[in-house]
Amino acid sequence: TQKYDEGLKKSRQTFGERINALFANFRTVDEAFFDDLEEMLIESDVGYETALKISEALREEVKLKNVKKTNEVSQVIVQKLVDIYGEAGESEDNTLHFAEADEPTVFLFVGVNGAGKTTTIGKLAHRYQQAGKKVLLAAGDTFRAGAIEQLQEWGQRVNVPVVASKAGSDPASVVFDAVKEAKAQQADILLVDTAGRLQNKVNLMKELEKIKRVIQKELPNAPQEVLLVLDATTGQNALSQAKQFNETTKVTGIVLTKLDGTAKGGIVLAIRNELHIPVKMVGLGEQMDDLQNFEADEFIYGLFK
Ligand code: GDP
Repeated sequence: TQKYDEGLKKSRQTFGERINALFANFRTVDEAFFDDLEEMLIESDVGYETALKISEALREEVKLKNVKKTNEVSQVIVQKLVDIYGEAGESEDNTLHFAEADEPTVFLFVGVNGAGKTTTIGKLAHRYQQAGKKVLLAAGDTFRAGAIEQLQEWGQRVNVPVVASKAGSDPASVVFDAVKEAKAQQADILLVDTAGRLQNKVNLMKELEKIKRVIQKELPNAPQEVLLVLDATTGQNALSQAKQFNETTKVTGIVLTKLDGTAKGGIVLAIRNELHIPVKMVGLGEQMDDLQNFEADEFIYGLFK
């Protein structure tokens, strides 16, 4: 789509341009070509193993089909990326889940400060509001200065109410109020912001568990999603954050933000290969429309286009 096209421009420049440069340098697909290809893939954050897998698969293909032309090689690379992505996550489900009964759906957002939680919640609120859903936001990040106001601003911008308390108050109590409010108003969906203090894992775990408990007191099947928001521009660091968050609470999906600002779109593959948590959405900008459901094929083709 148009959004993927624009949003992935930076990643594409690196992938695309570098591939072109590789082809310009190498008339034949020889060992030096494979070395350079591996290096390029690793630098775009697909992960070491994936880079080797792609290069191996390409070698095979080149042998079997006697591929020589560079544009054919490029097609094989893209196809291999798509295949490898598919294989790594065959059993994975990248759809968002909603409440089955006639009760509010709850999505809990976790992630370190600055990853893009508040922004993602604003964008998603806009999406559901536009779809005619009754949306409510909970300002559960009572810790970061300005987080509550920022969520309230988003609420105003997209015309969705926000349940909030004052800074420093107990997040679980804010969330509890929000859940009760969602039920009373017969809201379709409640999006919950949380604080992301990964430096204190035990406290974070306790806080997230407590939040889940208060949600489940009123809605036993919620939260339907625990979405970990990761900043793609932090590359391999995003990967280690994901591992740590997954140890503190069960994450059901990843939102990868700021893909418009990075040349490292390959991180999507590394997440798939190393974590086996589905990427469910991607952020491609700061505006309310800049959120897309993740489609692997489209994404990978977008990287190389
Ligand atoms: P939080 O601390 O996790 O709630 O992070 P914020 O939602 O406050 O986001 C931090 C910064 O990243 C803000 O300046 C956002 O505008 C920006 N941001 C969030 N998502 C994206 C995105 O997909 N693309 C770009 N370019 N910026 C983003």
